[in-house]
Amino acid sequence: MLLGIDLGGTKIEGIVLESKEKPIEVIRHRVDTEEKKGYLQVVDNIKSLVEYIENKIKHKFDKLGIGTPGTLDPVTGLLKNSNSQCLNGMPLKKDLSKTLDKTILIQNDANCFALAETLLGSVNDQYPHAKNVFGIIMGTGVGGGIIINGKTVYGSQGIGGEWGHTIVTDNGDECYCGKRGCVETVISGRALQTYYKNISGRKLKFEEIYATKDNDKYAKETFERLITYFGKGLSNVVNIIDPEVIVLGGGLSNINELYTEGYNELKKYVFNPTFSTPILKPKLGDSAGVYGAALL
Ligand SMILES: [Zn+2]
Repeated sequence: MLLGIDLGGTKIEGIVLESKEKPIEVIRHRVDTEEKKGYLQVVDNIKSLVEYIENKIKHKFDKLGIGTPGTLDPVTGLLKNSNSQCLNGMPLKKDLSKTLDKTILIQNDANCFALAETLLGSVNDQYPHAKNVFGIIMGTGVGGGIIINGKTVYGSQGIGGEWGHTIVTDNGDECYCGKRGCVETVISGRALQTYYKNISGRKLKFEEIYATKDNDKYAKETFERLITYFGKGLSNVVNIIDPEVIVLGGGLSNINELYTEGYNELKKYVFNPTFSTPILKPKLGDSAGVYGAALL
């Protein structure tokens, strides 16, 4: 059996799968992250969740896969680049390994998403032989994961696939990463809401902006910004890793125009006369993160 934990900003979810070949859910359970109470509380909540699962199914695991916001620095062993600030600079792997007495495999949540959709999700359903896959999460933030031959590309600094922090414009907003104009500060749900508020003076959720794009010129402009920079941003990834399949996830993956207008925009910037790489919708929904963690 495989044990996976998805550490999110508000919830920590745990899952046990029967095996990689037979990914049937044995148990699934959630607890609150309680990020505001600080790092030690988060570690304690992970511990309680794992103990709860092990007691329920009467099985003790040697290994635990965990997906986190941010990434573990392979040199220092400390978590970095997380938008959950209380985790940054903390030795999460070491602390969990000591507290739980297990081998801990950590990767960021976008890598987990990409792995799950590749091995168990829509890539596996439609392109089971794909060896080079790029997975994208577009929601409140923007993340990405590269899967080569069924494995994540962690990278020498643990930042493999992080297209959300590649720069696409000089006049974008400031990002928590310390730079300006990253993909995440231009096309994440949060960034688009801010952009709309700046041009219209009105505060709306992205779904509301999207719903009024045909009647409201500011909503239209915000939507066009998403399409343009989705294409530009993603073309940078395509030009480097040239994936066989791209799979989208996160809240914005429901926007149908990304697969049509966004695709055409991407096509414009790819360094090739033709472009036919498929972009797929996700299959696993919110479960991709926790499935991917178990697959680590
Ligand atoms: Zn950034």
